[in-house]
Amino acid sequence: MTNTEWADRGNNMFINTYNRFPAAMVQGSGCRLRDADGREYLDFLAGIAVCSLGHCHPKVTEAICRQAATLVHVSNLFHMPPQIELAELLTTHSFADRVFLTNSGAEANEAAIKLARIHSVPEKFEVISLEGSFHGRTLATVAATGQSRFHEGFDPLPQGFIHAPFGDPHALEALITPQTCAILCEPLQGESGVRPLAPDYLQAIRAICDRHGLLLIFDEVQTGLGRTGTLFAYEQTGVTPDIMTLAKALGNGLPIGAMLTTNRIASSLIAGSHASTFGGNPVCAAAAVATLQVILADGFLPSVQEKSRYFISRLEEVAARYPHLATGVRGQGLLLGLVLTEKGIEQGLSMVERLFAEGVLINFAGNRVLRFIPPLIVETTDIDLLIDKLVLVFDSLT
Ligand SMILES: *Cc1c(COP(=O)(O)O)cnc(C)c1O
Repeated sequence: MTNTEWADRGNNMFINTYNRFPAAMVQGSGCRLRDADGREYLDFLAGIAVCSLGHCHPKVTEAICRQAATLVHVSNLFHMPPQIELAELLTTHSFADRVFLTNSGAEANEAAIKLARIHSVPEKFEVISLEGSFHGRTLATVAATGQSRFHEGFDPLPQGFIHAPFGDPHALEALITPQTCAILCEPLQGESGVRPLAPDYLQAIRAICDRHGLLLIFDEVQTGLGRTGTLFAYEQTGVTPDIMTLAKALGNGLPIGAMLTTNRIASSLIAGSHASTFGGNPVCAAAAVATLQVILADGFLPSVQEKSRYFISRLEEVAARYPHLATGVRGQGLLLGLVLTEKGIEQGLSMVERLFAEGVLINFAGNRVLRFIPPLIVETTDIDLLIDKLVLVFDSLT
């Protein structure tokens, strides 16, 4: 079967919600993927910031196989060793005391929103999030997402979600009402174009929460688990949230998410008030334990920071060489964006397509930024190859 044959079969079967690259991926290892025609790709997309240890990391594969041969599912009516090990690792290495495990980022955010509301009963229910944010595709998380293009056609959305202008703490504070229970934000907005929130902005948001008795929820679904160079992005901000959500990289490709909080806040949820049949499935939890052990090993996060500095300097060279196409670089760790000029934006999709034709996978975030989210195990030689291909593509456009 070739790429084209697979694409024809798939396109006849699926509800057409995805704009797929014309390739059927069949195998992956480290930062490389192979398609059904035998073409190899350098992967700077990592399954959308999911496969942080690269494809089929041997330690994760081993944990998956071992757990799959031992116990696959029993439900959350029972204790499960891999889940408990995972919760211990997450709480030991974060501000949090307690964990609720989910299957995805949207579900982790749903759990956070439900916790914020039940913790603030009876009269408080409004959640303020930021313009440009992305929090998921379920109805409540779509309502929390501060981008109208994700809302269109889905009215009426759940009530109680308000969006504040990006970067303006005074405008945010002015939106607080007696019904407000929480502020929800990403420390760095990934989907809308790799936009970091400055530490003093986040500190101002924390102060607003404290003044008004609101919970601060950090959506670290994309930024968590080493992506920004520290285990969690909040560690670099001088701000501690009350609730944090994780997913994407947690299982290095297996579907698992988490909602973390303190003992005091967690006590508002009691047996029966929230649940998930599959959440924290033992195979996914075992994959997450193995993933965290690799990320927490000595030298791993410093190497991410080192590669980040190198990658930023190389991207800055590209921006300087093509000022008519790119204005600069932003982001943290290995969540980086090349910001395009108006002329560059017009050709953004074509840049991604041409890189794909050259065997390099990236994407176009927020319709303005080329986003680079390679596996955290990426080598500097891979970064050099990416830069060479980017230069080749930019030359072909000018
Ligand atoms: C991807 C993402 C989500 C949604 O996660 P799913 O697993 O697709 O539900 C939520 N928040 C942020 C910041 C994300 O990047």
